[in-house]
Amino acid sequence: MRQEDPGDCAYIIESGQVEILIEKDNGLVQSLGTRSAGSLIGEMALIDQKPRTATIKALEDCNLLEISAQDFNRRLTQSDPVVRLMMEVIITRYRDMLKKAHIVTPSGKFNKSEALEKSFLEKSHAVDSIRMEKELREAFFNGELFLNYQPIFDIETNKTLGFEALIRWKHPEKGFISPQEFIPLAEESRLILEISRWVLQSACKTLNEIRSTFPNEDFFMSVNFSSLDLADSSFDGHFMRIVKEENLEPSQIHLEITESLLIDEPDKARTTLEKCQRNGISISIDDFGTGYSSLSYLHYFPINIIKIDRSFIGTMMEDTTVAEIVRSIVNLAHNMNAKIIAEGIETKEQQNILSELKCQAGQGYYYSKPLNKEDLLSFLADKIQNR
Ligand code: C2E
Ligand code: CA
Ligand code: CA
Repeated sequence: MRQEDPGDCAYIIESGQVEILIEKDNGLVQSLGTRSAGSLIGEMALIDQKPRTATIKALEDCNLLEISAQDFNRRLTQSDPVVRLMMEVIITRYRDMLKKAHIVTPSGKFNKSEALEKSFLEKSHAVDSIRMEKELREAFFNGELFLNYQPIFDIETNKTLGFEALIRWKHPEKGFISPQEFIPLAEESRLILEISRWVLQSACKTLNEIRSTFPNEDFFMSVNFSSLDLADSSFDGHFMRIVKEENLEPSQIHLEITESLLIDEPDKARTTLEKCQRNGISISIDDFGTGYSSLSYLHYFPINIIKIDRSFIGTMMEDTTVAEIVRSIVNLAHNMNAKIIAEGIETKEQQNILSELKCQAGQGYYYSKPLNKEDLLSFLADKIQNR
């Protein structure tokens, strides 16, 4: 490759040797040294699609492995935001260093490099997510996170069976931030491990309060966990300790994990889930139908409950194939001796169909939105009084 040529890929030298040459403005050519097997060359073009900064000359027969700009950008966007930020800053500085080495610095050049770096920082979401991660940590330790509870119902009898604990964050300036936005940040920073323990403990405390207010009822509490939680070998120990400290039976707590998270680290997840199930905890597969295309993995995991994802419930009225899929999932659960919960029931019609399909339980705005603890207690009082 030649200096000033266009280029949109880098190469890894698999074998052979190359020399890197830079032509200065005064026409002199300077060697920056040689590179051999295992080195990366031409990487600058991946970052800013600018012309090649150097000439690379083969000193002998070489085998090169191409890395395209497209492939690199995909990897970069998928990487951890801190890694991404570091990469972008380091690469920008490196390019400027190279430029300074062979360009007679025109006045104002430094401003240009600063502006370039700044625009990188502004463009990337890295800064936002690093800031938000810091704020989340503070919010957590300052007690600004709280839980809502969405009741889960028997579709046939309309009786309340239990609740799903859902985390909430009210940011002082930005208002409510969806858990779908901040849970991934908590996972990136591993703060999720502490958050999950706190969620479990708070949900247990609330269940105890409900039980002492309505001593004749037998409700369960379902708690969401992340794959990082399950990958932690002390997870089941922490889980059992918290449940015992709150004087609850493990069978009163359901552990929810999404289908796709199970597949991330199947072996670790399975070991942990088996330990939990042996201790009497019910295992619930969340967002079922969205994560994985093969059903064969189902036998690999201990599963007590399947939660059908709300995308199926939302479209089954218009699309008969979706209704058939829901029917199949219900039958599948039946054959596996698992219970079924339909998510996102919003209308009476959806409830009717699910009842015809022999789906036992459900949750959704049709029954109730997620409620704070006080509203949940009055909701239950109303329902139990009117029975
Ligand atoms: P999810 O576990 O699937 O939770 C159900 C989500 O659907 C909740 O959103 C709930 O508010 C919403 N929902 C309930 N009924 C309806 C309905 O009829 N229609 C519609 N359109 N939506 C309904 P939310 O609370 O925003 O939670 C989003 C996701 O965040 C949860 O999805 C879960 O994956 C995650 N999450 C929430 N709390 C926790 C937590 O404590 N720990 C972890 N690891 N993840 C959590
Ligand atoms: Ca859930
Ligand atoms: Ca779900």
